[in-house]
Amino acid sequence: MSLIKQKTYKTTCSYCGVGCGMVVHKDNKGNLKVEGDPEHPGSQGMLCSKGMNLHYTAMDTSDRLLHPEMRWNRNSPLQRVSWDTGLDRAAAVFKTLINKHGPDSVGFYVSGQCLTEEYYIVNKLIKGFIGSNNIDTNSRLCMSSAVVAYKMALGEDSVPISYEDIELADCFLIAGANPAWCHPIIFRRLEAHKAKNPDVKIIVVDPRKTQTTSIADLHFQINPGTDIVLYNAIGRGLIERDKIDADFIANHTEGFNSYRQMVMGRTIKEAAKICGVKADDIYWAVEYIGRAEGFISMWAMGLNQSVIGVNKNFSLINLSLITGKIGKPGSGPFSLTGQPNAMGGREVGGLSTMLAAHRDLKNPQHRKEVADYWGVPAVPEKPGYTATEMFEALRDGRMKAIWIICTNPLVSLPNSQVVEEALQNAKFVVVQDISNRADTVKYADLVLPAAAWAEKTGTMTNSERRVSYLNKIIDPPGEALPDVEILCRFAKKMGFGNSFNYEDVSQIYDEHAGLTKGTRIDVSGLSHARLKEKGTFQWPVPTSDSPGTPRLFTDHQFYTTNKRATIYTVPDENLSEPPTEDYPLILTTGRIRDQWHTMTKTGKVYKLKQHIDRPFLEIHPADAKVRNIAEGNPVVISNRYGQVQVNAKITDTIKKGVVFLPMHWGKILNQSKGRANNLTTPLIDPVSKEPDFKFSAVQVEKYIKT
Ligand code: SF4
Repeated sequence: MSLIKQKTYKTTCSYCGVGCGMVVHKDNKGNLKVEGDPEHPGSQGMLCSKGMNLHYTAMDTSDRLLHPEMRWNRNSPLQRVSWDTGLDRAAAVFKTLINKHGPDSVGFYVSGQCLTEEYYIVNKLIKGFIGSNNIDTNSRLCMSSAVVAYKMALGEDSVPISYEDIELADCFLIAGANPAWCHPIIFRRLEAHKAKNPDVKIIVVDPRKTQTTSIADLHFQINPGTDIVLYNAIGRGLIERDKIDADFIANHTEGFNSYRQMVMGRTIKEAAKICGVKADDIYWAVEYIGRAEGFISMWAMGLNQSVIGVNKNFSLINLSLITGKIGKPGSGPFSLTGQPNAMGGREVGGLSTMLAAHRDLKNPQHRKEVADYWGVPAVPEKPGYTATEMFEALRDGRMKAIWIICTNPLVSLPNSQVVEEALQNAKFVVVQDISNRADTVKYADLVLPAAAWAEKTGTMTNSERRVSYLNKIIDPPGEALPDVEILCRFAKKMGFGNSFNYEDVSQIYDEHAGLTKGTRIDVSGLSHARLKEKGTFQWPVPTSDSPGTPRLFTDHQFYTTNKRATIYTVPDENLSEPPTEDYPLILTTGRIRDQWHTMTKTGKVYKLKQHIDRPFLEIHPADAKVRNIAEGNPVVISNRYGQVQVNAKITDTIKKGVVFLPMHWGKILNQSKGRANNLTTPLIDPVSKEPDFKFSAVQVEKYIKT
């Protein structure tokens, strides 16, 4: 397409946590075209297939919600109403419920795709003014186990390294992640580094062979749930072969003796048997890690989305701590954030269990600091409901109303039946979204049309703590409004107007930045103006002339009380629901390359459907054979939670005894039979409250039409 009279804007991709920089060209007819921003230090001009097609989601408004719509009662159809009518009703219902049942009867369920300013406002509204901590986010489903582990092991939820460390490392352990598909630009940097430096070693741990494993020197195709056993065995090997950093352990950590005792309690041969891998390969991993100058572990949902997710994280982080490979160039444990602004959401305290600037909800001084800053009497001490707890509370009647922003829980939360029952049982459901493709709209009493990417301004923070600015490039369609505008209008209807009067969204960022002052995530040196003028910054950025902070813990002083990192000794038993005679296979769920979450955006882009256009079940040839299943046959996957029907994809890239379903498909595309979360269990990690998406016992049978 040749564009005339172009105007050019810099912005940020709004899909994954890599946070790539984009240049958007707009012609005089409003047509958009995107390309990578060569000046962005993280993405260096690159974009993946999703990013390269992001502008199509903005230009195709056929699915967009254009006006507020409301039901006058549960059985009536949605009808177009004015913004005032819709928000007056929402305020009246919220006030009535709060008066009758208390502030914990309402809650907000938001998204790691919300901008930092949006997260800040909704957090301030419920915690400071409504008086409840009932705000949680779909980021709970992706990174909360890593957050807990970082905080406990290092003293703070702080990713220690940057993407630039990739080119400085000579050994990588990629655990429970497929960055080639899910963090593609990080993978491209890794791939290029390996191509230039063949001695760089890559170890991948995944029950599936993926595009990422194609560049691995060592692939541990482990039995699901045995991750801790494997990392402890590697730890044992490092100790046995004297590949640990004894000085670092002695001077900068605590807990090593108990860890050593634990890992020495099982031989590497025994561990290999439990994990379903070769003992020799464990020794090779020990060799690669042990001789590396720079060692980076990278992980994602395979570790986090587990009933033992926090412990899996500890066991991996321990390998960096015992080798002293942290706070040094090309070294550190690196959690790959799934969503574009999961980190920004945590900066403002946008979870039910935390406060702004990573303050601690349990700490009375921290609560007072936040309450004083907002000019409110108090912030409640009691933690709110976390993601899955919120929907259980709605189902049971402990919560009465929910306001869902920019997320589609009917497809994305585990154990979908509970979510359906919750939304049916709720007294009042508000859905604030951009698209009528969100399945949850069907259950909404009030639908509020929101502005999308390119239609609003704000900031996001990516996986490496890098804060980026997003430009407004086009106007939202119809009557859609930026989320902050909707929330501030609602706050005024609730009577909190004086504290929600902003002339510009940059003032919201300034208010958030002020609240971080003096904390470890200080961004008080940043403003929209500085981000627009100078580009991106990695926090902390404590002064207006600070260049930001690419690497943390360079002095090996950790953020714990005694400045030492903690090596946690954790049990290695998996606590997922085990396979049984009736349900002998282990189901794991995950992403495909060209789709994002529940496909409300990517599902409407023709080019992205060319890769994979329908749900499928990956099954090993031996498991298919005993079930008389041939390639492409329709199969029914079932367990005590529900059923899914898709076609079989027979492949030896998956471990025998394990099957894989993509997580993206839901009801909206008439593919209700493909909704993977019909089968996932209600189990969550007891500390992080992250669901056990990667381990559900199921049976698979050939579908026979009756
Ligand atoms: Fe967007 Fe992530 Fe792709 Fe970068 S890697 S273009 S942030 S989806």
